[in-house]
Amino acid sequence: MPGSLYIVATPIGNLNDLSSRVKATFEKVDLILAEDTRVTIKLLNHLGVKKRMISCHEFNEKSRLGIITEFGQLNQSVALVSDAGTPLISDPGNDIVHQAINCSMNIVPIPGPNAGLLALIASGLPCDRFVFEGFLPSKTNLLKARLAQLESEERTIILYEAPHRLLKTLKALSEVFGDRDICLARELTKIHEEFVRGKVSKIISELSNAKLLGEYVIVIGGNNEDRSSLSPNKSEVENAIKEMLEDGATIKTIVQTITEKYKVKRSEIYQLALAHKKPINLSKTHKFT
Ligand code: SAM
Repeated sequence: MPGSLYIVATPIGNLNDLSSRVKATFEKVDLILAEDTRVTIKLLNHLGVKKRMISCHEFNEKSRLGIITEFGQLNQSVALVSDAGTPLISDPGNDIVHQAINCSMNIVPIPGPNAGLLALIASGLPCDRFVFEGFLPSKTNLLKARLAQLESEERTIILYEAPHRLLKTLKALSEVFGDRDICLARELTKIHEEFVRGKVSKIISELSNAKLLGEYVIVIGGNNEDRSSLSPNKSEVENAIKEMLEDGATIKTIVQTITEKYKVKRSEIYQLALAHKKPINLSKTHKFT
């Protein structure tokens, strides 16, 4: 009989969220694979549990797969934990779970907090259909490109973001999505838990001079605009975009003006405006002989 892999969710700030099932699981397993053993030892000390631990993080996860095979064959059990919250959700563990399944181990998820879901249910935004995108790319061009892909998403979107990148991400969001309803969930389950709800433009101006500290989740309302696709009047729209670019308008202004005038999708206008912004001047870059 192969062993078991317990995927154990742990608190994201409030130790009172530890369930008795988490404690019982730590007590019964033969080994704990922890993202950072220095973090998990504090949890074990709090629970009064002593257990063998080995680190398993994004840089060594692959080298831990042999342990799973070995423990599975010996019919032993392993608990997988990350520093906080639910393992595998913007955290390591995917390869471990995959290996345990390949070894026919029992997979047992032990429920607990997840920042994204807590933010979603308190956001006031629709929870019936949603999409989790985790951390978006940090490079500005990649960030905006990913946002442009998400712009027409009708479901509520959940993002994770570091405090020092929060404003930059909100500004990119406002540029690509327009003035959407969002909710910022800060320091969930902790003493300074806070929710800021409203239009993204209002939240940007509120936060512009604030010191941004702590952990944040961004929840964004889906696109419910009934806008048509560009194809019927593409050349007319393209000409209007080119004219505005020549007049020195910003991408944000162009997207706002053109989507309102032609009632077409923002993501299409955004992509077109970017494409026309810096056309490659072949005569300058290549010499044809
Ligand atoms: N696995 C975790 C989970 O289940 O939520 C997420 C881990 S991810 C590396 C860390 C990110 O989650 C943070 O940058 C922040 O965006 C979000 N997060 C974690 N704890 C949070 C909290 N207490 N309040 C708000 N956001 C939190």
